[in-house]
Amino acid sequence: MSRPNVLLVTIDTLRWDKLGWHRANESITPNLDRMAEGGVLFTQAITGGSWTQAAFPPMLTSTYASMFGGCLGPLSPSRPSPIEALSANGFHTTGFSTTPLLSKAYGYDRGFHKFYDLETGDRDPVIRRIKGGQTLLRKTITHTFSDWIGFDTRPARPYQPADHVVDRISGWLDDAECPFFVWAHFMDTHWPYHLDASLKSSVGRAWAWQDLAAMHRVNWGGGSLDDAQRQRFVELYEESVRFVDAQIGRLLRKLETDPAWANTMVIVVSDHGEEFLEREHWGHVEINLHDEIIRVPMVIRLPRGSVPVRVDRQVRTLDLMPTILEICGCPRPDGLQGESLTPLWSGNPDLYTADTSVSERWRLDSHMIAVRSERYKYIWDSKKSGQPTLYDLISDPEELVDVKRDCPAIADELHMQVEHVLNLADVTTPQVEVQHEEVDPATEARLRDLGYIE
Ligand SMILES: [Zn+2]
Repeated sequence: MSRPNVLLVTIDTLRWDKLGWHRANESITPNLDRMAEGGVLFTQAITGGSWTQAAFPPMLTSTYASMFGGCLGPLSPSRPSPIEALSANGFHTTGFSTTPLLSKAYGYDRGFHKFYDLETGDRDPVIRRIKGGQTLLRKTITHTFSDWIGFDTRPARPYQPADHVVDRISGWLDDAECPFFVWAHFMDTHWPYHLDASLKSSVGRAWAWQDLAAMHRVNWGGGSLDDAQRQRFVELYEESVRFVDAQIGRLLRKLETDPAWANTMVIVVSDHGEEFLEREHWGHVEINLHDEIIRVPMVIRLPRGSVPVRVDRQVRTLDLMPTILEICGCPRPDGLQGESLTPLWSGNPDLYTADTSVSERWRLDSHMIAVRSERYKYIWDSKKSGQPTLYDLISDPEELVDVKRDCPAIADELHMQVEHVLNLADVTTPQVEVQHEEVDPATEARLRDLGYIE
Protein backbone atom coordinates (compact mmCIF):
# COMPACT_ATOMS: atom_id res chain seq x y z
CA MET A 1 0.00 0.00 0.00
CA SER A 2 1.29 3.49 -0.82
CA ARG A 3 2.40 5.67 2.03
CA PRO A 4 -0.35 7.82 3.53
CA ASN A 5 -0.58 11.59 3.60
CA VAL A 6 -0.87 13.23 7.00
CA LEU A 7 -2.82 16.34 8.00
CA LEU A 8 -2.12 17.41 11.58
CA VAL A 9 -4.57 20.05 12.80
CA THR A 10 -3.75 21.68 16.12
CA ILE A 11 -6.32 23.94 17.75
CA ASP A 12 -5.02 26.27 20.41
CA THR A 13 -6.81 26.39 23.76
CA LEU A 14 -9.69 23.97 23.03
CA ARG A 15 -11.18 22.58 26.24
CA TRP A 16 -11.88 18.84 26.24
CA ASP A 17 -15.36 19.28 27.69
CA LYS A 18 -16.55 21.43 24.76
CA LEU A 19 -16.49 18.52 22.31
CA GLY A 20 -19.80 16.90 21.39
CA TRP A 21 -18.88 13.49 22.81
CA HIS A 22 -18.43 14.98 26.29
CA ARG A 23 -21.45 17.27 26.35
CA ALA A 24 -24.80 16.30 27.78
CA ASN A 25 -26.55 19.14 25.95
CA GLU A 26 -26.49 20.24 22.31
CA SER A 27 -23.20 19.66 20.48
CA ILE A 28 -21.30 22.71 19.25
CA THR A 29 -18.81 20.60 17.26
CA PRO A 30 -20.87 18.66 14.65
CA ASN A 31 -17.94 18.33 12.23
CA LEU A 32 -15.46 17.00 14.77
CA ASP A 33 -18.20 14.71 16.11
CA ARG A 34 -18.63 13.26 12.62
CA MET A 35 -14.87 12.78 12.31
CA ALA A 36 -14.81 10.99 15.68
CA GLU A 37 -17.67 8.72 14.62
CA GLY A 38 -15.51 7.36 11.78
CA GLY A 39 -12.11 7.42 13.45
CA VAL A 40 -10.19 6.80 16.64
CA LEU A 41 -11.56 8.94 19.45
CA PHE A 42 -9.39 9.45 22.53
CA THR A 43 -11.53 10.58 25.44
CA GLN A 44 -8.66 11.00 27.90
CA ALA A 45 -5.71 12.60 26.08
CA ILE A 46 -3.24 14.58 28.18
CA THR A 47 -0.96 17.35 26.93
CA GLY A 48 2.64 17.87 28.00
CA GLY A 49 2.40 21.53 28.97
CA SER A 50 0.08 24.18 30.37
CA TRP A 51 0.54 26.69 27.55
CA THR A 52 1.70 26.76 23.94
CA GLN A 53 5.44 26.87 24.54
CA ALA A 54 5.35 24.01 27.04
CA ALA A 55 2.84 21.92 25.07
CA PHE A 56 4.38 21.88 21.61
CA PRO A 57 7.84 20.38 22.26
CA PRO A 58 6.15 17.22 23.65
CA MET A 59 3.65 17.12 20.78
CA LEU A 60 5.96 17.79 17.82
CA THR A 61 9.28 16.40 19.12
CA SER A 62 8.06 13.79 21.66
CA THR A 63 10.37 15.17 24.33
CA TYR A 64 9.44 16.76 27.64
CA ALA A 65 9.14 20.55 27.88
CA SER A 66 11.94 20.91 30.45
CA MET A 67 14.47 18.91 28.40
CA PHE A 68 17.20 20.53 26.27
CA GLY A 69 17.31 23.75 28.27
CA GLY A 70 13.53 24.14 28.62
CA CYS A 71 10.79 25.51 26.43
CA LEU A 72 11.14 29.30 26.54
CA GLY A 73 12.36 31.03 23.41
CA PRO A 74 13.18 29.12 20.23
CA LEU A 75 12.79 25.35 20.08
CA SER A 76 16.18 23.83 20.88
CA PRO A 77 17.94 22.46 17.76
CA SER A 78 19.22 19.64 19.98
CA ARG A 79 15.75 18.13 20.31
CA PRO A 80 15.08 15.20 17.97
CA SER A 81 12.99 16.20 14.95
CA PRO A 82 10.31 13.81 13.68
CA ILE A 83 9.52 16.43 10.99
CA GLU A 84 13.08 16.14 9.68
CA ALA A 85 12.65 12.37 9.65
CA LEU A 86 9.51 12.69 7.53
CA SER A 87 11.20 15.14 5.14
CA ALA A 88 14.26 12.88 4.82
CA ASN A 89 12.03 9.92 3.98
CA GLY A 90 10.20 11.36 1.03
CA PHE A 91 7.35 13.28 2.63
CA HIS A 92 6.53 16.75 1.30
CA THR A 93 6.29 18.69 4.54
CA THR A 94 4.51 22.02 4.97
CA GLY A 95 3.57 24.04 8.04
CA PHE A 96 0.98 26.81 8.51
CA SER A 97 1.53 28.78 11.73
CA THR A 98 -0.76 31.44 13.18
CA THR A 99 1.00 32.39 16.41
CA PRO A 100 4.40 33.98 17.05
CA LEU A 101 5.14 31.26 19.60
CA LEU A 102 5.14 28.62 16.83
CA SER A 103 6.75 30.76 14.12
CA LYS A 104 10.00 30.62 12.17
CA ALA A 105 11.44 33.03 14.76
CA TYR A 106 10.81 30.32 17.39
CA GLY A 107 12.38 27.57 15.28
CA TYR A 108 9.17 25.77 14.39
CA ASP A 109 10.01 25.74 10.67
CA ARG A 110 12.80 23.24 11.36
CA GLY A 111 12.63 20.23 9.05
CA PHE A 112 9.75 21.57 6.93
CA HIS A 113 10.21 22.01 3.18
CA LYS A 114 7.77 24.92 3.26
CA PHE A 115 6.59 26.92 6.25
CA TYR A 116 4.17 29.84 6.32
CA ASP A 117 3.86 32.34 9.17
CA LEU A 118 0.32 33.61 8.63
CA GLU A 119 0.36 37.03 10.26
CA THR A 120 -2.46 39.53 10.14
CA GLY A 121 -0.40 42.70 9.81
CA ASP A 122 -3.18 44.42 11.82
CA ARG A 123 -2.35 47.37 14.04
CA ASP A 124 -4.44 48.84 16.84
CA PRO A 125 -6.15 52.20 16.18
CA VAL A 126 -3.90 55.14 17.12
CA ILE A 127 -6.46 56.23 19.71
CA ARG A 128 -5.47 53.26 21.93
CA ARG A 129 -2.08 54.85 22.58
CA ILE A 130 -3.22 58.37 23.45
CA LYS A 131 -4.06 59.40 27.01
CA GLY A 132 -7.63 58.43 27.84
CA GLY A 133 -7.94 56.60 24.50
CA GLN A 134 -8.67 53.21 26.02
CA THR A 135 -11.53 54.66 28.07
CA LEU A 136 -13.03 56.20 24.91
CA LEU A 137 -12.72 52.86 23.09
CA ARG A 138 -14.87 51.19 25.75
CA LYS A 139 -17.83 53.47 24.83
CA THR A 140 -20.26 52.66 22.00
CA ILE A 141 -20.56 56.33 21.01
CA THR A 142 -16.87 56.43 20.08
CA HIS A 143 -17.39 53.64 17.55
CA THR A 144 -20.61 55.13 16.20
CA PHE A 145 -18.79 58.39 15.58
CA SER A 146 -15.78 56.58 14.08
CA ASP A 147 -18.05 54.74 11.66
CA TRP A 148 -19.47 58.08 10.59
CA ILE A 149 -16.04 59.52 9.79
CA GLY A 150 -14.74 56.23 8.34
CA PHE A 151 -12.20 55.40 11.04
CA ASP A 152 -11.48 51.76 11.99
CA THR A 153 -11.65 51.21 15.76
CA ARG A 154 -11.48 47.39 15.95
CA PRO A 155 -8.77 45.93 18.18
CA ALA A 156 -5.95 44.53 16.02
CA ARG A 157 -6.63 40.84 15.44
CA PRO A 158 -3.58 38.99 16.82
CA TYR A 159 -4.07 35.95 14.58
CA GLN A 160 -5.50 34.90 11.22
CA PRO A 161 -8.97 33.35 11.50
CA ALA A 162 -9.74 29.75 10.56
CA ASP A 163 -11.55 30.58 7.30
CA HIS A 164 -8.37 32.26 6.03
CA VAL A 165 -6.18 29.35 7.20
CA VAL A 166 -8.45 26.77 5.55
CA ASP A 167 -8.40 28.77 2.29
CA ARG A 168 -4.61 28.73 2.38
CA ILE A 169 -4.41 25.00 3.04
CA SER A 170 -7.01 24.27 0.36
CA GLY A 171 -5.00 26.24 -2.18
CA TRP A 172 -1.87 24.35 -1.18
CA LEU A 173 -3.66 20.98 -1.41
CA ASP A 174 -4.68 21.70 -5.01
CA ASP A 175 -1.02 21.48 -6.03
CA ALA A 176 0.18 19.07 -3.33
CA GLU A 177 2.55 16.25 -4.13
CA CYS A 178 2.01 12.98 -2.26
CA PRO A 179 2.87 11.74 0.21
CA PHE A 180 2.61 14.92 2.25
CA PHE A 181 2.70 15.91 5.89
CA VAL A 182 0.88 19.16 6.62
CA TRP A 183 0.65 20.80 10.01
CA ALA A 184 -1.82 23.66 10.46
CA HIS A 185 -2.39 25.56 13.68
CA PHE A 186 -5.69 27.33 14.46
CA MET A 187 -5.96 30.10 17.05
CA ASP A 188 -9.69 30.93 17.01
CA THR A 189 -10.45 29.53 20.46
CA HIS A 190 -7.59 31.52 21.98
CA TRP A 191 -8.34 34.81 23.69
CA PRO A 192 -9.54 37.32 22.44
CA TYR A 193 -12.52 35.24 21.31
CA HIS A 194 -14.21 37.98 19.27
CA LEU A 195 -15.03 36.82 15.76
CA ASP A 196 -14.92 39.31 12.89
CA ALA A 197 -18.72 39.27 12.62
CA SER A 198 -19.19 40.50 16.20
CA LEU A 199 -16.80 43.42 15.60
CA LYS A 200 -18.88 44.87 12.77
CA SER A 201 -21.27 46.77 15.08
CA SER A 202 -20.25 49.71 17.25
CA VAL A 203 -21.73 47.93 20.29
CA GLY A 204 -19.65 44.83 19.51
CA ARG A 205 -16.44 46.85 19.26
CA ALA A 206 -17.13 48.61 22.56
CA TRP A 207 -17.68 45.21 24.19
CA ALA A 208 -14.41 43.93 22.73
CA TRP A 209 -12.45 46.77 24.33
CA GLN A 210 -14.31 46.34 27.63
CA ASP A 211 -13.51 42.62 27.58
CA LEU A 212 -9.80 43.26 27.07
CA ALA A 213 -9.85 45.47 30.17
CA ALA A 214 -11.87 42.91 32.17
CA MET A 215 -9.44 40.11 31.28
CA HIS A 216 -6.52 42.26 32.37
CA ARG A 217 -8.23 42.98 35.72
CA VAL A 218 -8.92 39.29 36.37
CA ASN A 219 -5.48 37.94 35.56
CA TRP A 220 -3.18 40.79 36.57
CA GLY A 221 -5.18 43.04 38.87
CA GLY A 222 -6.72 40.62 41.37
CA GLY A 223 -10.27 41.29 40.13
CA SER A 224 -12.97 38.82 39.20
CA LEU A 225 -15.93 38.52 36.84
CA ASP A 226 -19.57 38.66 37.83
CA ASP A 227 -21.87 35.84 36.69
CA ALA A 228 -23.14 37.78 33.67
CA GLN A 229 -19.61 38.55 32.46
CA ARG A 230 -18.51 34.97 33.01
CA GLN A 231 -21.49 33.68 31.04
CA ARG A 232 -20.77 36.14 28.22
CA PHE A 233 -17.13 34.99 28.02
CA VAL A 234 -18.26 31.35 27.88
CA GLU A 235 -20.71 32.22 25.08
CA LEU A 236 -18.00 34.05 23.13
CA TYR A 237 -15.68 31.07 23.58
CA GLU A 238 -18.35 28.63 22.42
CA GLU A 239 -19.06 30.78 19.35
CA SER A 240 -15.35 30.49 18.52
CA VAL A 241 -15.53 26.71 18.97
CA ARG A 242 -18.48 26.54 16.56
CA PHE A 243 -16.59 28.68 14.06
CA VAL A 244 -13.37 26.65 14.07
CA ASP A 245 -15.38 23.41 13.92
CA ALA A 246 -17.25 24.63 10.84
CA GLN A 247 -14.02 25.64 9.09
CA ILE A 248 -12.30 22.34 9.86
CA GLY A 249 -15.44 20.65 8.55
CA ARG A 250 -14.93 22.53 5.29
CA LEU A 251 -11.35 21.23 5.10
CA LEU A 252 -12.40 17.65 5.89
CA ARG A 253 -15.07 17.74 3.16
CA LYS A 254 -12.47 18.84 0.63
CA LEU A 255 -10.28 15.86 1.55
CA GLU A 256 -13.24 13.48 1.49
CA THR A 257 -14.54 14.48 -1.93
CA ASP A 258 -11.33 13.80 -3.86
CA PRO A 259 -10.33 10.11 -4.15
CA ALA A 260 -6.69 11.21 -4.54
CA TRP A 261 -6.75 12.07 -0.84
CA ALA A 262 -8.51 8.96 0.44
CA ASN A 263 -5.20 7.73 1.76
CA THR A 264 -4.84 10.64 4.20
CA MET A 265 -4.57 10.38 7.96
CA VAL A 266 -6.11 13.38 9.76
CA ILE A 267 -5.32 14.21 13.36
CA VAL A 268 -7.12 16.93 15.33
CA VAL A 269 -5.73 17.79 18.74
CA SER A 270 -5.48 20.76 21.09
CA ASP A 271 -2.32 21.99 22.83
CA HIS A 272 -4.07 22.75 26.16
CA GLY A 273 -7.43 23.82 27.52
CA GLU A 274 -8.69 27.03 29.07
CA GLU A 275 -9.51 27.91 32.67
CA PHE A 276 -12.94 29.46 33.27
CA LEU A 277 -12.15 30.78 36.77
CA GLU A 278 -11.83 27.28 38.31
CA ARG A 279 -8.59 28.49 40.01
CA GLU A 280 -9.44 32.22 40.01
CA HIS A 281 -8.00 32.97 36.58
CA TRP A 282 -9.34 33.17 33.07
CA GLY A 283 -7.30 31.64 30.26
CA HIS A 284 -4.16 29.57 30.58
CA VAL A 285 -1.82 31.60 32.72
CA GLU A 286 0.59 28.68 32.96
CA ILE A 287 0.45 27.88 36.66
CA ASN A 288 -2.57 25.62 36.32
CA LEU A 289 -1.95 21.89 35.70
CA HIS A 290 -5.49 20.78 36.49
CA ASP A 291 -7.65 18.94 33.97
CA GLU A 292 -9.38 22.03 32.56
CA ILE A 293 -5.91 22.82 31.17
CA ILE A 294 -4.05 19.54 30.57
CA ARG A 295 -6.84 17.27 29.30
CA VAL A 296 -7.37 17.85 25.57
CA PRO A 297 -9.52 16.64 22.69
CA MET A 298 -7.78 14.23 20.30
CA VAL A 299 -9.16 12.39 17.27
CA ILE A 300 -7.42 10.45 14.49
CA ARG A 301 -9.04 9.56 11.19
CA LEU A 302 -6.95 6.72 9.82
CA PRO A 303 -5.90 6.61 6.16
CA ARG A 304 -8.55 4.97 3.98
CA GLY A 305 -10.96 4.98 6.92
CA SER A 306 -11.52 2.21 9.41
CA VAL A 307 -13.92 0.82 11.96
CA PRO A 308 -14.56 3.53 14.57
CA VAL A 309 -12.73 3.02 17.85
CA ARG A 310 -13.25 4.78 21.17
CA VAL A 311 -10.20 4.76 23.44
CA ASP A 312 -11.11 5.71 27.01
CA ARG A 313 -7.68 4.81 28.35
CA GLN A 314 -5.32 7.70 29.16
CA VAL A 315 -2.94 8.62 26.31
CA ARG A 316 -0.53 11.51 25.73
CA THR A 317 0.07 14.06 22.99
CA LEU A 318 3.71 12.96 23.53
CA ASP A 319 2.70 9.80 21.64
CA LEU A 320 1.48 11.52 18.47
CA MET A 321 4.72 11.77 16.51
CA PRO A 322 5.82 8.19 17.29
CA THR A 323 2.38 7.11 16.02
CA ILE A 324 2.65 9.18 12.83
CA LEU A 325 6.18 7.92 12.11
CA GLU A 326 5.09 4.32 12.50
CA ILE A 327 2.05 4.67 10.23
CA CYS A 328 4.18 6.53 7.65
CA GLY A 329 6.87 3.84 7.75
CA CYS A 330 9.57 6.31 8.81
CA PRO A 331 12.42 5.38 11.13
CA ARG A 332 12.10 6.87 14.58
CA PRO A 333 14.83 9.36 15.57
CA ASP A 334 16.70 8.59 18.81
CA GLY A 335 15.47 10.15 22.01
CA LEU A 336 11.70 10.25 21.52
CA GLN A 337 9.93 9.78 24.86
CA GLY A 338 6.50 8.73 23.55
CA GLU A 339 5.08 5.39 22.37
CA SER A 340 3.08 4.57 19.26
CA LEU A 341 -0.67 4.48 19.89
CA THR A 342 -1.37 1.99 17.09
CA PRO A 343 -1.74 -1.02 19.46
CA LEU A 344 -4.82 0.66 20.93
CA TRP A 345 -6.84 0.17 17.74
CA SER A 346 -5.17 -2.88 16.24
CA GLY A 347 -6.10 -5.46 18.82
CA ASN A 348 -2.96 -5.36 20.97
CA PRO A 349 -3.78 -2.77 23.66
CA ASP A 350 -1.28 -4.30 26.11
CA LEU A 351 1.59 -3.27 23.81
CA TYR A 352 0.88 0.35 24.76
CA THR A 353 2.50 0.54 28.17
CA ALA A 354 2.35 4.20 29.30
CA ASP A 355 0.26 4.35 32.46
CA THR A 356 1.20 7.90 33.49
CA SER A 357 1.43 11.23 31.68
CA VAL A 358 3.65 14.23 32.40
CA SER A 359 2.52 17.86 32.03
CA GLU A 360 4.85 20.73 32.83
CA ARG A 361 4.98 24.39 33.55
CA TRP A 362 8.57 25.47 33.02
CA ARG A 363 10.14 28.86 33.68
CA LEU A 364 13.73 29.92 34.33
CA ASP A 365 12.98 30.37 38.04
CA SER A 366 10.30 27.76 38.66
CA HIS A 367 9.16 24.37 37.47
CA MET A 368 5.91 22.47 38.02
CA ILE A 369 5.28 18.86 37.01
CA ALA A 370 1.95 17.04 37.08
CA VAL A 371 2.11 13.25 36.86
CA ARG A 372 -1.31 11.83 36.03
CA SER A 373 -2.55 8.26 36.05
CA GLU A 374 -6.14 7.37 35.24
CA ARG A 375 -6.97 7.52 38.95
CA TYR A 376 -4.60 10.07 40.49
CA LYS A 377 -2.81 13.32 39.76
CA TYR A 378 0.33 14.34 41.61
CA ILE A 379 1.50 17.96 41.27
CA TRP A 380 5.06 18.89 42.24
CA ASP A 381 6.19 22.51 42.37
CA SER A 382 9.88 23.47 42.65
CA LYS A 383 8.90 26.53 44.69
CA LYS A 384 6.91 24.35 47.12
CA SER A 385 8.83 21.09 46.74
CA GLY A 386 7.94 19.93 50.25
CA GLN A 387 4.23 20.31 49.59
CA PRO A 388 3.24 18.37 46.50
CA THR A 389 -0.46 17.67 46.16
CA LEU A 390 -2.32 14.52 45.18
CA TYR A 391 -5.86 14.35 43.80
CA ASP A 392 -8.17 11.38 43.33
CA LEU A 393 -9.62 12.03 39.88
CA ILE A 394 -12.39 9.49 40.30
CA SER A 395 -13.88 10.72 43.58
CA ASP A 396 -12.81 14.34 43.08
CA PRO A 397 -12.77 15.20 39.35
CA GLU A 398 -12.60 18.92 40.08
CA GLU A 399 -9.30 18.34 41.97
CA LEU A 400 -10.21 20.24 45.11
CA VAL A 401 -9.12 17.88 47.93
CA ASP A 402 -5.47 16.98 48.54
CA VAL A 403 -5.28 13.29 49.53
CA LYS A 404 -1.50 12.97 49.80
CA ARG A 405 -1.61 12.23 53.54
CA ASP A 406 -4.10 9.41 52.95
CA CYS A 407 -2.18 7.83 50.07
CA PRO A 408 1.57 8.28 50.72
CA ALA A 409 2.59 5.19 48.74
CA ILE A 410 0.81 6.46 45.60
CA ALA A 411 2.40 9.88 46.01
CA ASP A 412 5.84 8.24 46.33
CA GLU A 413 5.28 6.13 43.25
CA LEU A 414 4.18 9.11 41.11
CA HIS A 415 7.07 11.17 42.48
CA MET A 416 9.49 8.70 40.87
CA GLN A 417 8.22 9.94 37.49
CA VAL A 418 8.95 13.53 38.59
CA GLU A 419 12.53 12.48 39.42
CA HIS A 420 12.81 10.77 36.04
CA VAL A 421 11.79 13.97 34.21
CA LEU A 422 14.08 16.14 36.35
CA ASN A 423 16.94 13.79 35.53
CA LEU A 424 16.18 13.90 31.79
CA ALA A 425 16.05 17.71 31.98
CA ASP A 426 19.39 17.71 33.78
CA VAL A 427 21.27 15.42 31.39
CA THR A 428 19.96 17.19 28.27
CA THR A 429 20.62 20.76 29.46
CA PRO A 430 23.20 22.32 27.13
CA GLN A 431 26.62 23.05 28.61
CA VAL A 432 26.51 26.66 27.47
CA GLU A 433 23.80 28.73 29.06
CA VAL A 434 20.69 29.04 26.91
CA GLN A 435 20.12 32.61 25.76
CA HIS A 436 16.50 33.74 25.97
CA GLU A 437 16.54 36.82 23.80
CA GLU A 438 14.09 39.67 24.04
CA VAL A 439 11.31 39.50 21.46
CA ASP A 440 10.90 42.28 18.90
CA PRO A 441 8.25 44.99 19.59
CA ALA A 442 5.73 43.69 17.01
CA THR A 443 5.85 40.18 18.50
CA GLU A 444 5.61 41.62 22.00
CA ALA A 445 2.43 43.50 20.98
CA ARG A 446 0.89 40.29 19.61
CA LEU A 447 1.77 38.40 22.79
CA ARG A 448 0.17 41.15 24.89
CA ASP A 449 -3.09 40.97 22.93
CA LEU A 450 -3.08 37.20 23.36
CA GLY A 451 -2.94 37.74 27.13
CA TYR A 452 0.54 36.30 27.74
CA ILE A 453 2.18 39.42 29.15
CA GLU A 454 0.94 42.29 31.20
ZN1 LIG B 1 -1.60 27.31 23.19
